[in-house]
Amino acid sequence: MPQSQSTTSISMAPTRPVPFVRPLPTATRRHPTADRGRPDARGEWLRFAPVQPLFRARAAQRLAVLAYHGVTDHRSFGAQLDRLRRLATPVSLTAVLQAVTEQRPLPPRSVLVTFDDADRSVLTHALPALDARGIPATAFVISELIGTERPFWWHEADFLARHGGRARSLDCGHPSQLLPRLKAMPDPDRRRSLHELRVSADRRPPRQEQLTPADLLALRDGGVAIGNHTQGHPCLGRCDDATVRAEITGAHEALTRWLGEPPIAFAYPDGGHDPRAETVLQELGYRLGFLSDHRLGPRIPSHPLQISRLQVDSTTSTRRFDTILSGLEPAYRRWRRQAVA
Ligand SMILES: [Zn+2]
Repeated sequence: MPQSQSTTSISMAPTRPVPFVRPLPTATRRHPTADRGRPDARGEWLRFAPVQPLFRARAAQRLAVLAYHGVTDHRSFGAQLDRLRRLATPVSLTAVLQAVTEQRPLPPRSVLVTFDDADRSVLTHALPALDARGIPATAFVISELIGTERPFWWHEADFLARHGGRARSLDCGHPSQLLPRLKAMPDPDRRRSLHELRVSADRRPPRQEQLTPADLLALRDGGVAIGNHTQGHPCLGRCDDATVRAEITGAHEALTRWLGEPPIAFAYPDGGHDPRAETVLQELGYRLGFLSDHRLGPRIPSHPLQISRLQVDSTTSTRRFDTILSGLEPAYRRWRRQAVA
């Protein structure tokens, strides 16, 4: 794999300008403080919890795979990367694969940086910051968006619903429930509802310039490996068997064509493991699969097609970032969920 710790320059980047198109607003991923230009500092106090040193020591013997989406705050993102350089051992996808193949643990404090959905900010903001620090990464792309100006379907649905869009199965319920309800539907119903929203809304959503096949090559040559994130990002658990297969295979074929080699890594859309997907991945020769379960994992991944990841955001304050990396914030979140259940 050409990706890795290499500090290959980004001279392969396309010569045309690459304007950053801010994604449509989403209520689901960013914390409100981020919109006011301040880092997301929720739960920062955990950093001073007496158990934090214990968690940090334990985390040193685990693999942390960070799951970002885009980079909306490049200053805060840069501070996080500096933190990784100082306190962790950034590793490449190839190094994780090697650990699996040779059954040899990754170095202590290993961290793999990943991006799901891969909007243009991965090229315009993340790549220069990673390249400047020699930190490798992996981006999981939605193949049917590559080379288009189509927004992510969840941004589109949110916009359409706020501009008069209606769908039979979404008629009642609070607007904040729109995305959870779309994600919970059988996939054909989600597609039908999206269609109804499109034809009934009084405005079209703004276009969102996506990465192109040439951008994927520029990322790869700059040390960001490219992985499969399906063709259209459905919730696989809501799809029938044929759709699960078509979503993975379609993206696999497109990526192989663009990159000149088959991808070896996959990230489950919405982070949920699907056993039918795993079967297809095995058949296609995938070696690594990533969840979004907000957990650390072993330094030799015991289930290479079900590798845990921690959810982070470029707006996360460095103190909060520390508690996520140590596993304390994820453990606290699980404990709180159980306590209210
Ligand atoms: Zn995704």
